[in-house]
Amino acid sequence: MTEKLLNYLGGQWQSGADDGAVLSDPVTGQSLVRVASSGMDLKAGFAFARESAGPALRAMSYAQRAALLTTAVKILQSNRDRYYEIATANSGTVKNDSAVDIDGGIYTLSTYAKIGEKLGEQKFLLDGEAARLGKEPLFQSQHVLVPRHGVALFINAFNFPSWGLWEKAAPALLSGVPVIVKPATSTAWLTHQMVKDVVDAKIFPPGALSIVCGGSAGLLDALAPFDVISFTGSADTAEKIRTHPAVAKHSVRVNIEADSVNSALLMPDAVPGSEAFDLLIKEAAREMTQKSGQKCTAIRRIFVPRAHYNAAAEALGARLAKTTVGNPRNETVRMGALVNREQFTTVTNGIAQLQAHITTLFDGRKTALVDADPSVACCVGPVLLGTENPESVSIVHEVEVFGPVATLMAYETPERATALIRRGEGSLVCSVYGADNTTLAAAAIDLASSHGRIHVISPEVGVQHTGHGNVMPQSLHGGPGRAGGGEELGGLRALHFYHQRSAIQASSNILEKLTA
Ligand code: NAP
Repeated sequence: MTEKLLNYLGGQWQSGADDGAVLSDPVTGQSLVRVASSGMDLKAGFAFARESAGPALRAMSYAQRAALLTTAVKILQSNRDRYYEIATANSGTVKNDSAVDIDGGIYTLSTYAKIGEKLGEQKFLLDGEAARLGKEPLFQSQHVLVPRHGVALFINAFNFPSWGLWEKAAPALLSGVPVIVKPATSTAWLTHQMVKDVVDAKIFPPGALSIVCGGSAGLLDALAPFDVISFTGSADTAEKIRTHPAVAKHSVRVNIEADSVNSALLMPDAVPGSEAFDLLIKEAAREMTQKSGQKCTAIRRIFVPRAHYNAAAEALGARLAKTTVGNPRNETVRMGALVNREQFTTVTNGIAQLQAHITTLFDGRKTALVDADPSVACCVGPVLLGTENPESVSIVHEVEVFGPVATLMAYETPERATALIRRGEGSLVCSVYGADNTTLAAAAIDLASSHGRIHVISPEVGVQHTGHGNVMPQSLHGGPGRAGGGEELGGLRALHFYHQRSAIQASSNILEKLTA
């Protein structure tokens, strides 16, 4: 039998009572480790984090907690090789794709360590300036942000076992709020190893960072009034979380990052052969294939002027044809596997569902896999679909195929392109490509109301921009509507979720003591 990973809860390592779920290699099918979460006293574990780790973290200043994040960064960096091995085995990712998750997570943690250092020795934050409440200036109102006295429960998706943990844990721990993470079962191993390394290094007070691997049963029942929950995953599970009795009863603060049919928009000035056109092709191909398209931010819909539809289909198809797919251990392979057989089936069915309505422009599944048995490996070649009538095909704006799949669409006017993009009902990110700064700026503002982030690519930032799908800790991550309505990262803004805002109404002489 494979090793069963322990859970860390209540300040101790604990084994789940059942045999557990088996995690496997999506390329070879080999069993790796098991995870189990039944039989533990979850309420006692949550209480320990709340009552023991919470006060210990809050006794420190932001700068002191930032120093702990810096130490955690060093521990994680010293174990990077092990994390890459686990990612290759359990997520089936090539090295560059593992880096997006592993190094992306460590970078986010180190960014928050730097942000925290600048906050210095404060133990709470001021929110805006004091405002006079009456005719006389003596009685005023000052808003403050104080760390919440609860725990932060993270329920994460399978595609980012490292980044998904640290992008949430960094602002929570910096805020002084203990973290309990429940990674998605299929890829829990990497999250487990990282938490284990940090816990074993005794950086944070006991209970500040806990992990429950395996099923989610009972986790939400353990939530109390000052807790927060941050969820990343499907819209169906998100709905269950929002409507869970404990969440409703205790007004538990909820952040949801759900699915999203993100777009790329080529502006009318970007004709084939122009730099902006080439930048769109390069970015769309990268977004389709990076992490086998298993990124919540990946481009799913590509909008180009009708006159450029054929040229874009040809250029994108030619680029995708260069993607070698198969075993990530082979150095010639550029794209590894989907995360498991279930995802393989879901993605295959999703492609078939779209194919019933639109044209297949390129199908990389016809090319043989490298070093991988197609009857075992969960590898899918990139698939580009297309339609010249996106206004009459609703399904392309509704279905998110969570794999190396995107749909090219022709549009008539920029106004109609924007209306089509909005049919995604709220997305995480939209990228816009062109060379006319005035129309690009106008498009960005126009699209902002239905997106958490607008990524504008003009030739001058062609080599500098950070990528459509790369989530940078300095910028907001999250989107309205279908994308879940959540807000994460965005520098200091991320700390607000873990703080309570309160208005202190008092004599200006007392308020001065707060601002001193
Ligand atoms: P999922 O099935 O909803 O699972 C997400 C997490 O929820 C897993 O940890 C899962 O645990 C847990 N879970 C399942 N049922 C639950 C319940 N009843 N109560 C509490 N937790 C429960 O989603 P997924 O298929 O793993 O993730 C893919 C989706 O996530 C895609 O649609 C993608 O767009 C979205 N995503 C969004 C973002 C973003 O930042 N917006 C990032 C990544 C992914 P088990 O694994 O144990 O079932």
